[in-house]
Amino acid sequence: MRRTKKKFIEYNGGRVEITRRTMKNMILRVGPGGLLKVSCPFQVPDKAVLTFIDSRKSWIDGQDIPDPEPDFRDGTTIPYFGEKLYLNAVPGCGASVRDDCSLRVYVKNPADPSQIEKKAKDYLREELKTYIELRLPLWEERVGESCSEWNVREMRARWGSCHTDKQKLLFSLKLTAYPRICTDLVIVHELAHLVEANHSPRFYDVMDRAMPGWRTTNQLLK
Ligand SMILES: [Zn+2]
Repeated sequence: MRRTKKKFIEYNGGRVEITRRTMKNMILRVGPGGLLKVSCPFQVPDKAVLTFIDSRKSWIDGQDIPDPEPDFRDGTTIPYFGEKLYLNAVPGCGASVRDDCSLRVYVKNPADPSQIEKKAKDYLREELKTYIELRLPLWEERVGESCSEWNVREMRARWGSCHTDKQKLLFSLKLTAYPRICTDLVIVHELAHLVEANHSPRFYDVMDRAMPGWRTTNQLLK
């Protein structure tokens, strides 16, 4: 007797956990770290699950995720593009300074983690933007589509998004925790949506052509 059957499939640079069981409807939840979890009847194919998730994108972005966020206190470490930086909070103001292994942020009150978090995230956001600005033209050429605007923001359940009508791309600030090649992957993924809105075979053809090794990089974003 079949009770439940669990599997993982790729979705938007991340993973979806699908649990098939005897039930009538599909149910979507957002788990720790933004992992999408779908329960559905046995007969629902993977493709229908992805279409279902696509239709719930704004709902997903509105969900609170039990996320293991980095701890922004003086002396702790934060992830930095696949490496780690020690946070050094000192009283004062001015631009943050990074060396090989630390990030010094100037705040009014170094005992207040929220002040440190803001300064550290501002720094990370600028670093990510600089990288995207550098890499975007290259990937636009490879994919054969250009975006009209893009931005970085804190996103809950996704690495990026593509608003095809406005040709606008959004990138998650969390990409600053992963090696830079992961940012490249998400740039290509979102640009590929300008060619093909859905995760169809044609979409993956575009990905394969523009970035042949993307599946390996994809493993890092899990
Ligand atoms: Zn996608």
